[in-house]
Amino acid sequence: MAQYTPMIQQYLAIKKEYPDTFLFFRLGDFYELFFDDAILASRELEITLTGRDGGGDERIPMCGVPHHSADGYIAELLKKGHKVAVCEQVEDPKEAKGVVRREVTRVITPGTMMEGKWLTDKENNYMAALAALDGRIGIAACDMSTGEMYVTSLLGQTEAALDEALQYRPKELVFFGFDSLPKTSLPSTVVESQQLDAFAVDSQYPEAGKELDVAMRAAVNALLYYIGTTQKRSLAHMRLLKRYDSKQYLQMDGFSRRNLELTETIRDKTKKGSLLWLLDRTQTAMGGRLLRRWIERPLLGRAELDARLDAVEALKSDLLLRSDLRTCLDNVYDLERLAGRISYGNANARDLIQLRLSLEAVPELKRHLSQTNAPVLQELAQGMDECADLVSFLQAALVDDPPISVREGGMIRTGYDEYLDKLHSASRDGKTWIAQLEQSEREATGIRSLKVGFNKVFGYYIEVSKSNIANVPAGRYERKQTLANAERYITPELKEREALILEAEEKMIELEYQLFTAVRSEIAGHIPRLQSLAERIASVDVLQAFATVSDERGFVRPQFADDGEYVIVDGRHPVVEAVLEREKYVANDVRMNQDSRQVLLITGPNMAGKSTYMRQIALITVMAQIGCFVPAKEAKLSIVDQIFTRIGAADDLVGGHSTFMVEMLETRHALQKATAKSLILLDEIGRGTSTYDGMALAQAVIEYICQRIGAKTLFSTHYHELTGLADTMKGVVNVNARCEERDGKLLFLHKIEEGRADKSYGIHVAELAEMPVWVIERARSILAGLEAGSQATADMQMSLETLWSAPVAAVREEPVSLLSPEEEEILRDLRELDLNATTPMDAMMKLYAWKQQLKKR
Ligand code: ADP
Ligand code: MG
Repeated sequence: MAQYTPMIQQYLAIKKEYPDTFLFFRLGDFYELFFDDAILASRELEITLTGRDGGGDERIPMCGVPHHSADGYIAELLKKGHKVAVCEQVEDPKEAKGVVRREVTRVITPGTMMEGKWLTDKENNYMAALAALDGRIGIAACDMSTGEMYVTSLLGQTEAALDEALQYRPKELVFFGFDSLPKTSLPSTVVESQQLDAFAVDSQYPEAGKELDVAMRAAVNALLYYIGTTQKRSLAHMRLLKRYDSKQYLQMDGFSRRNLELTETIRDKTKKGSLLWLLDRTQTAMGGRLLRRWIERPLLGRAELDARLDAVEALKSDLLLRSDLRTCLDNVYDLERLAGRISYGNANARDLIQLRLSLEAVPELKRHLSQTNAPVLQELAQGMDECADLVSFLQAALVDDPPISVREGGMIRTGYDEYLDKLHSASRDGKTWIAQLEQSEREATGIRSLKVGFNKVFGYYIEVSKSNIANVPAGRYERKQTLANAERYITPELKEREALILEAEEKMIELEYQLFTAVRSEIAGHIPRLQSLAERIASVDVLQAFATVSDERGFVRPQFADDGEYVIVDGRHPVVEAVLEREKYVANDVRMNQDSRQVLLITGPNMAGKSTYMRQIALITVMAQIGCFVPAKEAKLSIVDQIFTRIGAADDLVGGHSTFMVEMLETRHALQKATAKSLILLDEIGRGTSTYDGMALAQAVIEYICQRIGAKTLFSTHYHELTGLADTMKGVVNVNARCEERDGKLLFLHKIEEGRADKSYGIHVAELAEMPVWVIERARSILAGLEAGSQATADMQMSLETLWSAPVAAVREEPVSLLSPEEEEILRDLRELDLNATTPMDAMMKLYAWKQQLKKR
């Protein structure tokens, strides 16, 4: 068997260490991929697959991308959930004996991206780890780009733990200690126990690490291990470890979050149309990310909420102050990610300038904040470290507008380094001497058109047009290049000056780079200060965003009640209201409490506004519990510990479970977890099964919630038979989405009123949908039959069997056809037609006759 070339052997040895990545193997100006990597990558990236002779029996599949445009390709692979190992030449090819030494310098994975260009400003880029240990599951999530790390643990329920991890919308998951992995479509990595360094957490987080339980420790360790093996660089900026208990916050499961469209819409999974979209009037990327976190984790503590609301109130009432603040915030760049890049060592001089500009905005920001009378804002301001030392350091060290590349020079300000300044003046002097040369040589030679120029190949030269060559001083000028109508010369003096200039420039660039990295490491020593400043600025930004949107949309400050009262006067759905353009949103009230009005049973036809009303109430609760004003005229709310939303599903099959099964599983989950302080929204539960079955279940669920749980519940249903419950069960109250019939048509008023819907309007809705008249008429007659046949159905105690037999028999009496008499006739004709006895002409005639007949209709 043939032997692979040494380079391919080297490739294979490295690839063995990184089997689950695309190995980008540096070859000169390209990154090349080989073997299966090449085949797959050529497909994923739509680049040409070629081959290379590698000494084996067959040509090796290969494809490559230029190193300067590799980023785009890497981003593409990451987006598809792949990992990329970047393998560089780590010695100078000129000095190499044999194959150039190569090493993987970094593994880039979807969860460990750092570069601004791959990230979305207002979104964190999390990766999460789940670690099962001692009956608990630890969940840790970190964002490498900002340095945040969060950790919690729960009693071992895999599903709940995964739900918690998924709240971060991680790009990647790491698992430790699971016998079987939970199902997820995210890129996942399993860490084995022998890989874990049990003490990694202590060295990364000497303080906060001590407070973690074993499951939390394992989760953080798993993340640190994974980051360590992929990044191979300083993680100094990862200093913020925040431990929390999910019970500190208003809890919502993944389903409820999605259903309420908190951060993205259900339909197209975009931010636009979500609560986040509506509230996002933040000016900074950090603020944008914090807002998202606040929305995902509403609070339970009244003091904390009132503090936020005080701040919003103060800012809402002072338009001038708010606009000043917004202007200041506009000058603040993404401090968290800047800090991340600075300590990671990939920040350039422009990043440091952005840092400086951001810091320069702080004193004014503080001044504005201290004018307010809200204690939180004053406190936030007082704690802001202006980092004046860093500002003056950066001002002294760097020019205002440095180039992007850190290898070109032009970054360091004059006066910062004496030697650099000397080199500068040497180069400058040389250039002045050359600039003056043109004048002096013109005078010496008498050639008025003589020019001094520069090109990359020959350096500086003196150019004389052909017509003046006779006047060139032969001994002093040396001919270097001939052009069509000119000659170029050099002189020994000119070359001497040129050498000095070039030498100075080369030294300058090297020195600048050294000085720059020193500046960057100096700043890197202050990361915690920058991070804490960033946090404060982000909070101010979110609070001003709340104030801005509250002012613009006429939101009011919610009050909190301790006695279970829950009253909203003229509440609106904030997002529906915002997207309804000219049509005005119809405001609605809610009155609930802990005894007489605990379950609102909402009846009304489809499209009447039931679901919107329910979501509006949940959203108002969430908004109040993140400290924002709410869309209402008045709101007095009890603090809610959990929100459950469940939507009845139609009965089709998805993934082996009928959706009705899913509906029941989810409802069970809500019934298990809810407390008297929870808010439950059940939207047409029981719809996915037969009518009586569904009604019976719905009633039982309401009874259970009312008698056993005591949670505030909104239950919408189109079974208006259920409204009878209000008469027999304390705490259940009927409300209905009002509709009016005008000229036999249905008008939706979107107004929720007390009392039950007088009847069901399904057929009207079908009519609105322009169902064939035949269907509408037929449905009306069937309904009449049903209503006559089951007088007693209002009484739910009646046996289901009797209910079934009566109406169904009534329906079956007359056979039904969906075709018109003409159509029936044509069909009959067609059936009877003897093709063997039909000429083409006859057939044509028949077709014509049929068409005429159909046209008549
Ligand atoms: P249901 O759940 O009763 O079938 P929806 O809540 O889905 O009805 O509402 C149907 C439509 O009516 C929604 O698309 C919404 O745009 C509109 N709507 C609902 N409530 C209101 C309201 N209060 N004011 C104005 N339009 C509303
Ligand atoms: Mg609905």
